[in-house]
Amino acid sequence: MQREQIVFVGTCDLSGHFRGKSFPAADLAARLRRGVGLAPANIFLSATGPIQETLFGTQGEVFLIPDPATRVFVPFDGSAAEYFYIGDIRTAEGAPWAFCPRQILRRALDRLVQETGLRLLATFEQEFTYSGVPALPWQPYALEGYRRQGPYGEALLAAMRQVGVIPDSFLCEYGMQQFEVTTTPCIGIQAADQAVITRELAQAVAFRLGHRVSFAPIPAPDGVGNGTHIHFSFLDVNDQPVLYDQKQRWCLSSLGSRFVAGIQHHLPALCAISTPSVASYYRLRPHRWAPVHSDVGVWDRGTAVRICAVSGDDPAQHARQFNVEFRVADATASPYLALAGLIQAGLDGIRQAREIRLTGSSALPTSLSAALDLIEASDVAADWLGADVLPAYLRFKRAEIRGMEGLDETEVCRRYTEVY
Ligand code: GLU
Ligand code: MG
Repeated sequence: MQREQIVFVGTCDLSGHFRGKSFPAADLAARLRRGVGLAPANIFLSATGPIQETLFGTQGEVFLIPDPATRVFVPFDGSAAEYFYIGDIRTAEGAPWAFCPRQILRRALDRLVQETGLRLLATFEQEFTYSGVPALPWQPYALEGYRRQGPYGEALLAAMRQVGVIPDSFLCEYGMQQFEVTTTPCIGIQAADQAVITRELAQAVAFRLGHRVSFAPIPAPDGVGNGTHIHFSFLDVNDQPVLYDQKQRWCLSSLGSRFVAGIQHHLPALCAISTPSVASYYRLRPHRWAPVHSDVGVWDRGTAVRICAVSGDDPAQHARQFNVEFRVADATASPYLALAGLIQAGLDGIRQAREIRLTGSSALPTSLSAALDLIEASDVAADWLGADVLPAYLRFKRAEIRGMEGLDETEVCRRYTEVY
């Protein structure tokens, strides 16, 4: 029987899930112009599925319009192709919708250009749990651990490369059944798009092999966390890197230093966006190689913000390699929102000429509820997501907390692992 090709267009919504609608591929040209209709309430689909809280009820209409630059087409033998686009959500009048995750990031990137003339170069280093290997006593970083995952890694990297998401590394991580995939850095929105595409392809390839991948922050309360680390640097109008300055402490340019200081200053509140689930805070506990303070460190994987090392004997390449890693994010955050929050916090550091604190950094919040209270109390952060979005986001996330109330930590982890 002949099959008919179907295309999906989605957005990585407030809960960090990639959701949208599908249509016949034959209608693609028309859909690229007019998109698919969505209920505004769709942006409030919860982490676990049901709409728990929405501003819009059953009212209204917005349009999810595929961005041709995000096209993903990966055929799989004996199975349906992965055929999807990431879209922008627009109003019926064609204007960007304030709740559109890509629009929230675009706003932050526009501010960065307006205020500094710089573009952000970023990549997401994503850890996940793969069910296709035995949950044996673990084999951190072992060749045998890598070997056991069989064709999975090779298939994933091939799928990524086919759609222009260039893999940088794939490795057997520290935890049981834990792996990590990283891509080469991209400019602006594309960095977040590629994080979404990588997650979807990681799921898609596992599914074709009869397995499942989970990006949930931690599979069990005493387990090893799955972080999403965001590496970033800046390019000027001439495409020259501007984070590196050999004359400064740690080789971090003064602009870079103020940007990092802004992140450090606002980090406890920023957690509400970058580690936005109940289980996120089980990962952010001592001795997990995950941060517990709003600290900045050089070559230190225990800190919240790590100034990364450069290598090789060509000094000209050092400025290009040099980057900063933000370690307080996980895959329950939409990459668009996490990156937007990071940029907004950093920009405030530049505006206020903030300085990195080497001692006395504040503790990170230990629960989602505490993080939400902090972002609500911050005058500066009120504007990061947009004036209308933050109050709605707070209600949305507080409903998520209520939905998990009374469950023990093991059950909370299980529920997030099922859906992320
Ligand atoms: N799994 C750790 C985390 O939750 C990170 C380990 C590493 O340094 O890659 O962030
Ligand atoms: Mg790692």
